[in-house]
Amino acid sequence: MILSPAELTRYSRQLKLPGWGPKAQERLKLARIFVAGAGGLASALAVYLLAAGVGRIRIVDSKRVTLDTLYHQLFYRERDLDRCKAAIAEQRLREINPFSEVEALSRKITDYNVLRLTEGFDLLIDTLNNFPEQKILNRAAIKHRLPLIHAAVEGLNGRLTTFWPGHGPCLLCAFPDPPPENSAALLGPMSGILGSLQAMEALRIMGGLGPALLGRMLLFDGQHFRFAEQKLEVNPDCSACKGSASLKL
Ligand SMILES: [Zn+2]
Repeated sequence: MILSPAELTRYSRQLKLPGWGPKAQERLKLARIFVAGAGGLASALAVYLLAAGVGRIRIVDSKRVTLDTLYHQLFYRERDLDRCKAAIAEQRLREINPFSEVEALSRKITDYNVLRLTEGFDLLIDTLNNFPEQKILNRAAIKHRLPLIHAAVEGLNGRLTTFWPGHGPCLLCAFPDPPPENSAALLGPMSGILGSLQAMEALRIMGGLGPALLGRMLLFDGQHFRFAEQKLEVNPDCSACKGSASLKL
């Protein structure tokens, strides 16, 4: 048993969940999660992951805090304007759980550094909302054969799925062409809703319950409060994973 009495007390309510006993909790403690982006989705999901006992999180974001992000990126305050998001996020997240490690890097994710940045992690989470960078992250998921929890929000619409080369589709199987340009319109809680769902899926995967959204895209319509879903399949002609057939684990 690697959990201390204080941890058993801290997590006692989630330990009571069916399928979420001490074994799952120990798995969470050993989990290393990479989060691309430190914006609205990440503000919600990182707090939940650390509070739930995930052992190590690395967040990467190269931007600075601007006034128009404060309404939905809950890491940041007025006093943080113009400061690096990564530094602030790290400082705030370190207060969440003394049993977890947090590292935030102020860096742009590029073709050149992505494999090094994601090396040694068990799970990738995409909060980027930027297709060129998402494609770069997808390459790391293929190379390291890691699950990649993808979410995007725009206006009152959100989508969420888990890509896992070797087990299911990758980003480019689902989007061979870039999705329509993001209008940047957004109601703040949409980030919290989708980010929280990403955290749920991450805890399932890292806790050993397996992904709920492999091959399924969950769509949330915030205008009418409706969930819908869309089936996703591996594309045997995918330019990125080549259908993943050779990666079957
Ligand atoms: Zn693919």
